[in-house]
Amino acid sequence: MRRTVARSAERAGVGLHSGPATRVRVRPAPPGSGLALVRTDVPAPRRIVVGLASVAATERRTALRSGEQRVDTVEHLLAAVMAAEYDDLLVEVDGPEVPILDGSFAPFVDLLAEAGVLEQAGRPRVATLHSPVTMELHGGWYVAEPAAEGRLAVALEYQELVIGHQAASLELRPGVFAREVAGARTYGFLAEVAPLRERGLLAGASEDCAIVLDDARVLNTTLRWPDEFARHKLGDLLGDLALLGARLRLAVSAVRPSHRGNIAFARVLAGAVSYGEE
Ligand SMILES: [Zn+2]
Repeated sequence: MRRTVARSAERAGVGLHSGPATRVRVRPAPPGSGLALVRTDVPAPRRIVVGLASVAATERRTALRSGEQRVDTVEHLLAAVMAAEYDDLLVEVDGPEVPILDGSFAPFVDLLAEAGVLEQAGRPRVATLHSPVTMELHGGWYVAEPAAEGRLAVALEYQELVIGHQAASLELRPGVFAREVAGARTYGFLAEVAPLRERGLLAGASEDCAIVLDDARVLNTTLRWPDEFARHKLGDLLGDLALLGARLRLAVSAVRPSHRGNIAFARVLAGAVSYGEE
């Protein structure tokens, strides 16, 4: 059976890069319709399909668009959607960006738990792989391998000792994402803030929505796990792989992942996987 939400549910908060508060609402969607976003604050809203053809930007976040209508920072919500294996869902946003909330995936896991699950007609679309695929991009390295169930792994290799080398992995089985990854927050180095603001990003950033670091230490919070950074990157990878438009029945490992690398690898994978029904 395909899965959608049983009822609508919503959250409100500021956008990390755009600033103003927005409201995001998940709504049930008809069988076979897939995942899509829609801007409710514009005249003549267009359907923004969650797919690789909709990618609008990948610097520091993933943005999707249809024509001029765009939604930024979709990846944390989409990670929660993928972890719960929703096949059909409509996401309404009344502004240009999904709220950042506490910078983790947990508020979206809670949002979806509140919205519940409705099983509906049709078989889920799944992506499987028959032989390994690799990609290297700007110092990042990705490999995907055949697997019966979805599995992700990441390795971070930072010069800055505050992160250093960390690795984490995730089995895509019920409950695991919520327990082991959802609470992991996004992070950034203090020295990056001014240059990113000059480029129009981080307009809504505050100490409450990210882990802020300098080279040596965490400046604004207590870590939820020593390897919270690697756990967060697992969630970002899962959210970006939502753009394949299927449940994952394959294993992906990434060294030094980024949104740009994730999306580039998703494009490679899209040409390599077999799409079937479960
Ligand atoms: Zn993230």
